[in-house]
Parts: sequence; structure tokens; C-alpha cells
Amino acid sequence: MKVDIKSLNLQELTTQIEDLGLPKFRAKQIYDWLHKQCAESFDEMTNLSKDLRQKLDEAYEIKNCKIVRRLESQIDDTKKYLFELNDGETVESVLMKYKYGYTVCVSSQVGCNMKCSFCASTIDGCVRSLEPSEILSQIYAITRDNRAEDKDFRVSHIVLMGMGEPLDNYDNVLKFLELITNEAGLNISARNISLSTCGIVPKIYDLIEKHPQFTLSVSLHAPNDEIRSRIMPVNKKWGVDELLEACKAYTDATSRRISFEYAMMDGINDTDECAKELRAKLKGTLCHVNLIPANEVRENDYKRSSLERLQAFSKILEAGGVTTTIRRSLGGDIDASCGQLRRNTKKGGEA
Ligand code: SAH
Repeated sequence: MKVDIKSLNLQELTTQIEDLGLPKFRAKQIYDWLHKQCAESFDEMTNLSKDLRQKLDEAYEIKNCKIVRRLESQIDDTKKYLFELNDGETVESVLMKYKYGYTVCVSSQVGCNMKCSFCASTIDGCVRSLEPSEILSQIYAITRDNRAEDKDFRVSHIVLMGMGEPLDNYDNVLKFLELITNEAGLNISARNISLSTCGIVPKIYDLIEKHPQFTLSVSLHAPNDEIRSRIMPVNKKWGVDELLEACKAYTDATSRRISFEYAMMDGINDTDECAKELRAKLKGTLCHVNLIPANEVRENDYKRSSLERLQAFSKILEAGGVTTTIRRSLGGDIDASCGQLRRNTKKGGEA
């Protein structure tokens, strides 16, 4: 079994390189190629001798993301990628352009085990979790692809909101965060990273210990157990009150604002009563609510709420002092929400 070289931090790589009898500075060179230049093979590392490149190739595997499909929105600059991993599994990522820079939405697992009833990523369950290198490679492959047109292209923000539940792949996701924020690599500021979870409560408490600098997003989508357990099975394990208590502990310990995601589904979770219940539960919590018109997916019957409904819901929350934004949907013409492209693309074939 070859070692997954892209999942090693600089210190671990240095130890390995020294164990191979090579000088320390080689580790720095290789790390730079992998994590700054986004190299996908040892052959690209032109300041290493051919012999050394071959030696490395024998000992290490570079886990890459190969572009299988790329969809470009005609409405905005959103690009959606379907990537093939070294073992042939596929994951999706999305590149979005905002005034403040480029954001990449990455996947943390192939599929997902959480079974939220409105979500396309979870329909066939979770095939496997991604290695740190495979989460990184989504960003690196997008960087390479876009550097071809714009050599100064750089990703400034990351959201862990693609396929998978990041806190169900806790260790690898934390290692990914360590590597992506490292100054020897792409050096993305932790403050520009959001991690989204469906609410795995014990892991939220684990995170508190780490005093993270990134933003925690919690997919709430309902104000009470009755509705939430119906659309999010995870709620049967950790209910709304228990989840909000963990969120409160998180904001108390870190002084960081939590972001609550709320996908508005017509007739399910979008009534005035829901808004009032939510307002009462969030009052006094250091938080922000993102209202999102639900994406309609082929596999279920949910309909998105009207814009008027979103505005009315928002108004009720705001009246109670709960800051709320209505999120603009990007890439509407390319099914930019995750899970759908992978499902619709047969291995090696057309959609
Ligand atoms: N597992 C994580 C992150 C992945 S999904 C989580 O649950 O937070 C990123 C966000 O998209 C989550 O808020 C998720 O609930 C939401 N989502 C999934 N399917 C959706 C759909 N059809 N419409 C709107 N939002 C959806």
C-alpha cells in the first residue's frame, strides 16, 4: 500500500523524507508542488531529479480529482464539477464567484448516511468517507482548471456544504482544515471557511475543545421535533432543544456566531407559526439565519416556498431581533446543488 502523500502535513512529510535518506529541504519542495502548485504527478516536479521522482512514485500515491464533467452557468459565473477519484468513485464540487472572491463548495463523503428527505446526496447512502487529500484535491483541481485561463486565480473561501456530513468524517475533515489553512499551502484563512452539519451533537462539543476559527453552520430547517424528525432522521437521535443547547455552548465558548440554514419547503416548514416558534427558540443566541428557497430535486415531491413566503418568514424573525438573510441561489440552470449531477451521470457515460 502506497502512502497517501497529500494527506500528510509538512512535519509528517519531512519525517518520511528523512526516513528515505533524503535532505529535509526536499520535503518543503514536494509540499510546495502538491499544495501550492497543485501538482498532480511527481513528473511535474521539475526541480527533482528523474531518479528521485521515480523513487517517490514507488512509495507514494497522489490522490487527485479528475474532471469528468464541468457545467458552466449561463446566468452567473458558477461552475459545477463532477470529479473522479483515484478509485473511480465520483464527487461534486461547485465554484461560485462573489464580489469578495471565489468560493468552493466541497464534498466530504461519497454520498451521505444522514437520509435528510429533501436531499439528493443521501439517496443511495454513503459509499465511503473522503481522505483529507481528496477534499483538498477538489480545490486544487478547480484551481488548476481556472489558472489555465487566469494565472492569478485563487480560491479565497471554502464551504463544506457539498455531498456528505463533515462531522461524520470528523478526523479527516479536521486534517483537511489544518492543511488548507497552512501557510505552506494555499493558506486560506480559517475565517473564510464554513463547515455545515446536520447536527451531530457530540461532535459539536468536540469541536468546542478545538476553539475553531471557522464558521459553524447548522442545518436546522425546522423549529420543532415534530417537523424536523420527519425531514431529518438525525433529529430522532439529537432533538432540536439538545442541538440548540450545543450551539449555545459553542457560541459561549468561542464567541463565534453560528449560522443556521433553513431551506424553505412549501407547506412543510414555512408557516408564520414556524417562524414564531423559531424566533422564540433562537432569541438571545449569537446567530444568523439563512433562508434558502429549497432546491427541487427529481426524487422527491418538495416544492420551494415562494419569495413572498421567504420574505414574510424573514420579517417575523427580524422582528424578534434574529438576523436573517434570504440567500441568493446561484447556478440555477446547472443543478448547482449537490448530489444531482453524480446521480445523473452514469460511470463513463452521458447524463
Ligand atoms: N451534511 C451537511 C452539509 C451538506 S448539505 C449538512 O447537513 O449541513 C449543505 C446544505 O444543503 C445543508 O444545509 C442541507 O440541508 C442543504 N440541502 C440539501 N438538500 C437541499 C435541497 N434540496 N434544497 C435546499 N437545501 C438543501
